[in-house]
Amino acid sequence: MSDTNIAIPSGPLGRRDSRRVLVQHGDRKIWVGGDAPVVVQSMTNTDTADAVGTAIQIKELARAGSELVRLTVDRPEAAQAVPYIRDQLDKMGVDVPLVGDFHYNGHTLLTDYPDCAQALSKYRINPGNVGKGAKRDTQFAQMIEVAVKYDKPVRIGVNWGSLDQALLARIMDENAGRAQPWSAQAVMYEALITSAIENAVRAEELGMGRDKIILSCKVSGVQDLIAVYRELAKRCDYPLHLGLTEAGMGSKGIVASTAALSVLLQEGIGDTIRVSLTPEPGGDRTKEVVVSQEILQTMGLRKFTPMVIACPGCGRTTSTVFQELADDIQTFLRDQMPEWKKTYQGVENMNVAVMGCIVNGPGESKHANIGISLPGTGESPAAPVFVDGEKVATLRGENIVGEFQAIVLNYVKTNYGNNTNV
Ligand code: SF4
Repeated sequence: MSDTNIAIPSGPLGRRDSRRVLVQHGDRKIWVGGDAPVVVQSMTNTDTADAVGTAIQIKELARAGSELVRLTVDRPEAAQAVPYIRDQLDKMGVDVPLVGDFHYNGHTLLTDYPDCAQALSKYRINPGNVGKGAKRDTQFAQMIEVAVKYDKPVRIGVNWGSLDQALLARIMDENAGRAQPWSAQAVMYEALITSAIENAVRAEELGMGRDKIILSCKVSGVQDLIAVYRELAKRCDYPLHLGLTEAGMGSKGIVASTAALSVLLQEGIGDTIRVSLTPEPGGDRTKEVVVSQEILQTMGLRKFTPMVIACPGCGRTTSTVFQELADDIQTFLRDQMPEWKKTYQGVENMNVAVMGCIVNGPGESKHANIGISLPGTGESPAAPVFVDGEKVATLRGENIVGEFQAIVLNYVKTNYGNNTNV
């Protein structure tokens, strides 16, 4: 027998000590940084000039749990639509703060369309796409001046696909003068970090408050992102927006984002996250919100929705009943959450187990708040249900799903009703 005491995981390390930035719309206040919870954000993929379509998608993203929603502002028609979108959302009772994403002509749009500038709660400025040569500094200054005038925070969002080429050339020249030049990869990292920090300092010189600036340095490689953000976090105390750019489609996009973000979040780096998934054709944009929430929840950083613990199934689960029940319960819980979180405070702490047979089913079900162990192939067609470790019912027949949902609902009402179990 070993006498070594196995270390109990302490969970994610403490958050890096960053400043706090307030992103606000009306009474809705979202703090980014400091000891605030890591914020989930998303971005629309509609044409912003299509105000109705964009407002509907923002509503869906907000309902799924996006706490900030970014939208492209790329031309006058889009800038004109922004105040109308904001108004439509307000009328629907959707108070999520909106972030305008500007490239190339942001200085003009923000100046020419003051209603757009005011309707947005934050501006994203890409210093690599602000302009070239002498115009660059002027146009960057114009955007910062508008942000200062309307008291809006900004994200200085560097992306390696649109890195400031003049700055890159300067860093390469400096590197050439080194006795032992850095690798091309290290030069790229340095250019990304330098671009973010130098532009933040410039914004402060132009009058922007230090508590109004968030930084990001997005790249598309997992190891690159980890290396860049570790160094960025060491060099500044601005809050950091974390995300793997161009993460990709389907499982690849989810896995790559999860791998990169998890390592950094575990080290306390990252104050707001976005998972940039390429949707399948006709796919649901809210998937990126769900994945962001699941990363934070499975890491123990935040709680958004009751967790469903489901076994993977195996040769003992030859029918589809088990998969259907797990899927139905997961969907049921997620669909209820926008209403439940207003009425049943603390319900997001609930665990529900859906297990495929008696091998691990009763044991896992007893550990959950509510658990069901379905009959595996060849087992008697009965599904014992456990509530807080006690067997309370055995379900049979065609309506196991409906009866189990009713038991879950009853548990929620009993245990989280009237905010008594907070
Ligand atoms: S609980 Fe049963 S059905 Fe599920 S994986 Fe284990 S043995 Fe297979």
